Formats: sequence, structure tokens, C-alpha cells
Amino acid sequence: MEVYLLDTNSSCDTDKQWWEEFRRTSECTGCGSLDRRLRVALPDVRLSEDLDQSAINFARPTSLSIIRSDFRELLSDEFDRCFVTGRALNSRGVPILGSMTFLPRKPIVVRGGPDSMRRWCDQCGRFVYFADLPLYVLESSLSEASLYGPDDGGVIVIERVFRTLDLTMWTGINVVKLPVRREPLDGIAEFPSNFY
Ligand SMILES: [Zn+2]
Repeated sequence: MEVYLLDTNSSCDTDKQWWEEFRRTSECTGCGSLDRRLRVALPDVRLSEDLDQSAINFARPTSLSIIRSDFRELLSDEFDRCFVTGRALNSRGVPILGSMTFLPRKPIVVRGGPDSMRRWCDQCGRFVYFADLPLYVLESSLSEASLYGPDDGGVIVIERVFRTLDLTMWTGINVVKLPVRREPLDGIAEFPSNFY
């Protein structure tokens, strides 16, 4: 069994002043983890350049993604259950129609091999993990849902949803097939509950 990570190489810079404020108020200085309040409501994200036509984009240098509304409609009505969404503003502060920022409410952990980095943040106390190859998800982290949100951007869809998408119609989507494993390769039986 596999799932499909849809992410992108496209990105768009955020406004420098907006980013300084966001980093100061919403990111841990020790590990870069986002304030948990963002998983309930997202602030407006101000961009410094125009978005291209990509179905999915990143708001650099945050870990927030941007999705075109017309592509989001194809995914599933589960999208809003899985992700909190917000507005992207252009360089003049005007909301960009047809696109929205998004962040998983409760991220799924994309796991990695034995060399995956793990530590405890000495600032916020959270468990910090960066998956090293090979990437996969654990069967136990999947439910009946057809969509999942990895913490570093993009959308994970199950095969049934993936088969409904004609990705030749869209630009800027990078597909990564992720195997579903029963057992972890990183030696971590269970992630601590304060992971996010
Ligand atoms: Zn931290």
C-alpha cells in the first residue's frame, strides 16, 4: 500500500517585514516549530511577489503552503477538516483571489530511516524530528481519512483520491509516492504527544 505526497518546487517570497513579525510571534527560536494557535486559525500571509499558476506553492521561508482554490475543490471535502486555511495577500496587502494558505490541524508524521534526526528543543520542550531517507508513513498513523497533512507542506492523499486527479492539467505539483509500513525504521516506537 502507498499514499501520495503532493507538494511543489514552486515558492513565493513573503514580505520581509511580515516575515520578521511572523517569526517573532509564531515560531520557536530554538527549533522553528509553529505556535499551536496557528493550527486553529491562520493569520493573513503577505507575499512580496505575484503567485505563479502552480496548483500548490510555498510561502517562503515559512512552512505554510498555498493552494489554488480550484485545485483544492478536486481533493475532497475533507480538506477543511484536515487543514486550517487562510488568506494570502499580495504586496499591496490585497487578498489574492482563488488561492488560500493552508496548514494541517494535526500533522501526520512522515517517518524516515535510522539516521533521521531527533532531539528535544531546549526552548519550547517539543520533540523535533527530521526524517532521513527512505521516507514512508506508518500504517498506524492512517485512519479512514483520504487526506493527511504533513508538517513541512503539501497534501498526502490516498490512492483512491490520487487516481481521480488528472495532474497533466496542473502545473507545479511534485508527486512523491510514500510506502505505508507496519514497523518504523527510525527506532521510534511512538512519538511523544507534544510533537506539534
Ligand atoms: Zn522549539
